[in-house]
Amino acid sequence: MNRKGILAVVSGFSGAGKGTLMKLLTERYDNYSLSVSATTRSPREGEKDGRDYFFVTREEFSRMIRDDELLEYARYVDNYYGTPRKYVEGELEKGKDVILEIEIQGALSIKERYPDSLLIFVTPPSAKELKKRLTQRGTETEEIIRKRLKRAAEEAVGVENYDYILINDDLEEAVLRLHRLIQDQHMRVGRQLDFISDMRGQLADL
Ligand code: 5GP
Repeated sequence: MNRKGILAVVSGFSGAGKGTLMKLLTERYDNYSLSVSATTRSPREGEKDGRDYFFVTREEFSRMIRDDELLEYARYVDNYYGTPRKYVEGELEKGKDVILEIEIQGALSIKERYPDSLLIFVTPPSAKELKKRLTQRGTETEEIIRKRLKRAAEEAVGVENYDYILINDDLEEAVLRLHRLIQDQHMRVGRQLDFISDMRGQLADL
């Protein structure tokens, strides 16, 4: 059996509830590792360096790119975001299912690099609900919310390259669905070829 972990990429409209989904998923099941990204954006209130993001300067971010420390990176609304390579590769090796919560450009470059990664796009049930959630969060100015809604419309453009759409209407149901989707990947034929080959050997010996 292939013991290497699944690389799952979760994207979705800003305000789709990804953060809450990830939090519940990792609290409830212990097979997941959540990658912490590096970003040049300033911390929001309550955000902690090393837990929510590694908050770095533009210079430090450029150095990380130069030294090939990022699996992927992208620019999103005036800032840079990137996935640290070492942590992700180490956790996958240990057999952990690693989750990247990243935007679409990054997701697509991960798929190119790791064709057996799983790309899931999370969306609220409607555009109206999306705006409501973004406004209720209260952490962004009106100008930023407008920019994010505009970007959300653009994000739907590449969605056909994802593997699954997850509509986050009922949070409990969404957590369970996400967990099942990721766990089902362990049963993919491509990951079980050693098992089948062993079976065939054993059958020949009977
Ligand atoms: P926020 O500023 O709201 O925390 O994140 C903005 C966007 O950047 C979100 O869509 C989030 O998923 C994405 N993001 C966070 N980390 C990364 C990363 O490492 N790489 C990429 N490509 N996007 C990221």
